[in-house]
Amino acid sequence: MHTVLNFGSINIDHVYQVDHFVQPGETSSSLAYSKGLGGKGLNQTIAIQRAGARVMHVGHVGADDAWLMQELIALGLNMDAIVGVNEATGHAIIQVNREGENCILLHAGANHCMTEMEINALLGDTEVEWVLLQNETNAIDIIMRAAHDHGKKIMFNPAPCHAGLAALPLAYVHTLVVNEVEAAQLSGEENIERALGVLRTQCDNVVLTLGADGVRYSGEAGGFSVAAQKVEVVDTTAAGDTFIGYYLASIAAGMAVEQALIRATKAAAITVTRLGAVSAIPVASEVI
Ligand code: ATP
Repeated sequence: MHTVLNFGSINIDHVYQVDHFVQPGETSSSLAYSKGLGGKGLNQTIAIQRAGARVMHVGHVGADDAWLMQELIALGLNMDAIVGVNEATGHAIIQVNREGENCILLHAGANHCMTEMEINALLGDTEVEWVLLQNETNAIDIIMRAAHDHGKKIMFNPAPCHAGLAALPLAYVHTLVVNEVEAAQLSGEENIERALGVLRTQCDNVVLTLGADGVRYSGEAGGFSVAAQKVEVVDTTAAGDTFIGYYLASIAAGMAVEQALIRATKAAAITVTRLGAVSAIPVASEVI
């Protein structure tokens, strides 16, 4: 089985249930609070692991963060490439409203400590077939170019997104996974069809997730749409991350694209029925 290398963020999520999102100038009380592990990078690593693939997370945390290290060890994560540094652990302040929508403030902290030396050292591992990237760490451009030079397949989830990411060497990306907003920002097209068309000229495979409307794929395997499962939404946090982790684990295991989309859709639907990020991601036996 080939290893996935995920150069990704590790965050502590502070999750507040709120009646409504705090408005400018307003002070309002939360209805409930919980603390948990998160970060798009870590969420996706956990999703890959729970989907049954071998994954190594490459990331940085505050060296004094004993609580976090214990939590990571308890998850059974491969800790070989998780390094303690003299920065605050990345964290997110997440408000979840009564509709289950979220609103997130991020502090990158230790997540911006990726060095070129460790990137190249890790990419030298011949067992690694896939490299997964999001946009919550530094050095994305360097990792993309180095991964390409090392002959790895790159899956890229440009989140959080901004139009400037279009300057990245997207031609090196094997599979681009975007939601509607990211697709519009990267392509400069508001219309879904046109956005998908533009992105497809840049990457061999494009997966466009559409929340409750499911997912579109356009790429080497053709074109597919998969409807989302009908479920009762509790919290959509980590829906996209669950989708990506299950999709990559499935593709890496040799599953056909359409089957992988269906499996990832089922996994993400379970996540939205649960509160939290890492804690909400299902294990493979639940995804039937
Ligand atoms: P997030 O940032 O909230 O993690 P995202 O914006 O990256 O998510 P979405 O397109 O919202 O990604 O969702 C990813 C996938 O999760 C969808 O393609 C769908 O399969 C599933 N999903 C999301 N929302 C719902 C929902 N309300 N009901 C069922 N499935 C959902």
